[in-house]
Amino acid sequence: MMSRISAAIESFFVRYRSYLPWVHAVMFVMFMTILFLPLLLPDPPEDATPLTHFTTFANYALWGLWFPLLFLSVIFSGRSWCGLFCPMGAASEWANKIGLKRPIPGWLRWEGTPVVSFIVTTILGQTLGVRDHPEAVAEIFGCTMAAAIVIGFLYGQRKRVWCRHLCPIGRLLGLYSRIGAVQFVPKVKLGGCDSYTEKGICPTMIALAHKNESRHCIECFRCVNPQAKGSIRMEFRRPGIEIEKIRDHNANPAESWFLFLDTGVALGAFLWLVLPQYQNVRQAVGDIAIDHGWDWLLQVGSPWLVSVHPERAEVFLWLDFIMIVGFMLCCMLALTILLGAMTGAAAWLSARVGGKGEFRQRFTELGYLYAPVSMVSLILGLGNLLFDPIKETPLGMHGVQAVKGALFVAGMAWSIWLGDRILSNQSVCAARRWLPLLPGLMGCMAIGVCWWPAIFGI
Ligand code: SF4
Ligand code: SF4
Repeated sequence: MMSRISAAIESFFVRYRSYLPWVHAVMFVMFMTILFLPLLLPDPPEDATPLTHFTTFANYALWGLWFPLLFLSVIFSGRSWCGLFCPMGAASEWANKIGLKRPIPGWLRWEGTPVVSFIVTTILGQTLGVRDHPEAVAEIFGCTMAAAIVIGFLYGQRKRVWCRHLCPIGRLLGLYSRIGAVQFVPKVKLGGCDSYTEKGICPTMIALAHKNESRHCIECFRCVNPQAKGSIRMEFRRPGIEIEKIRDHNANPAESWFLFLDTGVALGAFLWLVLPQYQNVRQAVGDIAIDHGWDWLLQVGSPWLVSVHPERAEVFLWLDFIMIVGFMLCCMLALTILLGAMTGAAAWLSARVGGKGEFRQRFTELGYLYAPVSMVSLILGLGNLLFDPIKETPLGMHGVQAVKGALFVAGMAWSIWLGDRILSNQSVCAARRWLPLLPGLMGCMAIGVCWWPAIFGI
């Protein structure tokens, strides 16, 4: 049954993929409208709704629909957004067709480049107030779009260098696509693990005959040809199976650490807004600045770096810039150290109860167990507008909390299940797996405690 459905989907996209540029063009126009039209409109009144004012609609479309649904869609269809709809990746590829086609430099190919890109974008998004101000949306997404086009223009031949190496969202989607229900696999697979090649048709430089992981596949269907014996085919699979068997799917230490870092920085992005303790520390630092005559700290910050909107009663000082950046980096480091320690303990205990492989290998594999709980946290915390319509139903605020709580518990249970399967593949017998699973459970609970204000309020 599933193979018939996947064959039908393959045939559909192979037949109609030449029309994809039209889809991208429509998405590009819609994206530009959402980014820039609100700049030309007066601010919405207090009681505006998405149905009565375009700026409110654009904000809800971005943060209430696109952001959370993009991450949820990965579970069902992998990176289909990237290959089929994303106007940024498509624009980068259009630029590449007419561009300079220079060799891809080493600094771009570094594993940490998209991590830095994600952290910088997330932090700037907070200091500029990207969820509240259309100017910040235009700056962050507009600059990202411009960078995608410039990188596409400069580097690679018929490739999406931006999507593989730099996109702050792509790296995240790639990681979560490992738990997705869709994969593209070679019909005839050669030995060895996933490798990188600039030859061939894959826009994200995957050596197709060796392909054994999902993260770089943007599902563009370019390599799919149902008639050709040596091509790639699309298949459905049980969600999570790639992480359960991560030992066979090119587990990557940088990806595990990225999972910890991005969970931490996203948490910081939410907590500084809601924690009264953050305001107390800010006040104390402000008092110290006054006492010591550090006037520059109390000056209004650059509108390119912080939110400066006196007409909306929000003006950030350099103090706010430093405090927000510092708070988010501290959250990121603290959660990374915590999850790293829990994963280290799990990897150490795994060996004590029969787990096979080097410590580094076991550590990397067990790091992936946090993927579901981390993804759910992102949706609940930063995509919380998605749940707002529930408030208008008879369920009210309790309904919102119940749905969010249920989602979080599901994410946590899935993480523990993945941990159990990863340990099974490390040859730990069922009766003794509970021991190395304990640190994983504690790590998930720690994430839950940190995100508590997002789920249930303070
Ligand atoms: S990697 Fe980024 S720019 Fe590329 S298609 Fe995906 S979301 Fe769009
Ligand atoms: S593996 Fe195939 S579907 Fe995936 S990105 Fe490469 S060419 Fe596109």
